[in-house]
Amino acid sequence: MSTETTTFASLNLDAQILRAIEEQGYTKPTPIQEQAIPLVLEGRDLMAGAQTGTGKTAAFTLPLLQKLLPHASTSASPARHPVRALILTPTRELAIQVEESVKAYGKHVPLRSLVVFGGVDIRTQTPHLMRGVEILVATPGRLLDHVESRSVQLGQVQILILDEADRMLDMGFLPDLKRILNLLPKQRQNLMFSATFSDDIKRLADDFLTNPTLIEVARSNATSENVTQKIYRVSAGDKHGVLAELLRQENSQAIVFTKTKLTASRLARLLQRDGIAADAIHGDKSQQERIQALDAFKQGKVTTLVATDVAARGLDIDSLPLVINYEIPHAPEDYVHRIGRTGRAGALGVAVSLVSPEEEKYLKEIEKLIKREIPEEQAPRAQRSSERRTERAPSAPVSRATTPSASRKSSDPWFDKPYEPDNSTAPVRHTPRPLSKQKREIPALLGGLLRKD
Ligand code: AMP
Repeated sequence: MSTETTTFASLNLDAQILRAIEEQGYTKPTPIQEQAIPLVLEGRDLMAGAQTGTGKTAAFTLPLLQKLLPHASTSASPARHPVRALILTPTRELAIQVEESVKAYGKHVPLRSLVVFGGVDIRTQTPHLMRGVEILVATPGRLLDHVESRSVQLGQVQILILDEADRMLDMGFLPDLKRILNLLPKQRQNLMFSATFSDDIKRLADDFLTNPTLIEVARSNATSENVTQKIYRVSAGDKHGVLAELLRQENSQAIVFTKTKLTASRLARLLQRDGIAADAIHGDKSQQERIQALDAFKQGKVTTLVATDVAARGLDIDSLPLVINYEIPHAPEDYVHRIGRTGRAGALGVAVSLVSPEEEKYLKEIEKLIKREIPEEQAPRAQRSSERRTERAPSAPVSRATTPSASRKSSDPWFDKPYEPDNSTAPVRHTPRPLSKQKREIPALLGGLLRKD
């Protein structure tokens, strides 16, 4: 099957599903969709190597909807809406986004879906669950809470999907996963998606997949060809100034990665003081705050989102042009995940890493993993406060009221800390360029099926 000739219509999907795909603006299936959809429809177990950004969500959601179509029912009786498909994700953000995709692709199909995740009052989810849903998207811990409180039965699950399985293991979900697997019928279809294939992942696959077909788009641990990668060598002390200057020069939306929640909060606040509409997203923020920050970012009110690896996992943001590694991750796989936030679905992106001398060893690990040297470029010169003050627009401070963290007294330990004097406190005009709505095209460069069966 070649990418040129395959269309969604040729994949034997129902007209109602095809209509929803068209409404999404997708013209042809991505390589992972082209490979996975027929196999899932055949009922095969899958082990799929695909990074976020390859279209993997639709790769499992579209055939899933197709398979459940015969069970679609308009009956109000909960008994007519048992959970038939269970999608497990490592984070709340990913769970929300996957369920949004299920809703979008299943818009014209009378199947019910629901997302449940921790960090919010369980009682708000229970009535929805009790009404019955065919497709349940969940984080493992909260799903088990619901099982314990008997608000959900998993005895009729036909299809199980583990999304971002590698991250689930990294986050210590293996015991929860094992408990969940024991609650499911033995006879079922299993699909596992993972960006990387560690030995642990292979062991997990051995445990729960039956004679799986392996499909892989873009080498695991490979980085997308659509992303231009570069490094700036800067001292740890200069990083903030260089970052602020880079953000000003690029004048586009960016995700900035830090290693810790503390640095994320602190950096977002420093950038706000530089006049950059920044916000932080990390595990200590409430679910509501994280959703607000993400929405503000998607609307362009926030131009720079400072994120930790875990919080950024699963963020689905169209056409993000720039990812900045403020701190180099110690686990090289995280670098692959981070820069996978840009250059998605065929768009072009840039990934810049600020590398201090202490971080050289982590850079080496990354280069070993991705099997290439990342070119170094000259870092932009951080402006001194006096230089910035002359160019600032006094009447145009960036509104901080739009960023949730700026308008509240938070538990952020840096919130009331005295300002560090390495930068100007004067707001600088920074007119954000909103996220460009690029035409959605097949990410041709992500193609290249490596192995099948
Ligand atoms: P995912 O890898 O599932 O996170 O998807 C990454 C992005 O690709 C999402 O913004 C999807 O809306 C988009 N996408 C998925 N399938 C296609 C397609 N066939 N053509 C264009 N864009 C797509």
